[in-house]
Amino acid sequence: MRKPLIAGNWKMNTNVDEAISLVRAMVSELDKIAGVEKVLCPPFISLATVKELVKNTSIQLGAQNMHFEDRGAYTGEISPLMLVNLCQFVILGHSERRQYFAETDDVINKKVKKVIEFGLNPILCVGESLEDNESGRTEQIIARQVKAGLSGIKPAGQMVVAYEPVWAIGSGRAATGKQANSTISLIRSTIAGFWDNNTAQAVRILYGGSVTSSNIAEFIAQPEIDGALVGGASLKANEFVGIVSQTASLKSTR
Ligand code: PEP
Repeated sequence: MRKPLIAGNWKMNTNVDEAISLVRAMVSELDKIAGVEKVLCPPFISLATVKELVKNTSIQLGAQNMHFEDRGAYTGEISPLMLVNLCQFVILGHSERRQYFAETDDVINKKVKKVIEFGLNPILCVGESLEDNESGRTEQIIARQVKAGLSGIKPAGQMVVAYEPVWAIGSGRAATGKQANSTISLIRSTIAGFWDNNTAQAVRILYGGSVTSSNIAEFIAQPEIDGALVGGASLKANEFVGIVSQTASLKSTR
């Protein structure tokens, strides 16, 4: 059985002091919730500080991006060597990276390979735009992004995929549980065809896009959805704890 996972993507929010306050406001409640993996993804500058605050708890950390080279003349970038002792997960291919930083499937694939090489867990984001959705191209876009993201990588059960329809991110317009479940089922069969069915059954596939404590139950109740990647609601301690605790009651694998 796949262990549910809830990851909070803080995006470009919180300075170090604010990150400390946010973690302090939820660390003990989150720590008590069993049966769900809890992952906080603060900005890079706060990772080391947050690592100290969650030391000896069940909370894990993730980075929001990573460069695919180990080191070198890449001003402003963060390498796997810098992350390997700081976090367990790395979000890759978020639609904001694809849209605002021109990240291509090829670049994202290089990053996924590196994350796996360094023993970290990739959270590979895929999702169709509103235009693709309305013109019936969702399946085609998602299958392309998944295959390109996994290209040249040996079956890796630690892979996490986040299905995040671009039109649902930060818009307050979440997909329905059924819509998300059906696209996630397509993602799982794409992985099964690309790798094999056993690995596809082990890969956790999350839904992301305007998840809150008021709608998480609808997603978690779906058989193919293994958790959520949460943006805006992860910046409010009560909301995030509410999302994780409902996930534990509905789907925990104790
Ligand atoms: C995200 O950034 O991954 C996300 C899903 O954002 P939000 O929850 O704010 O829609």
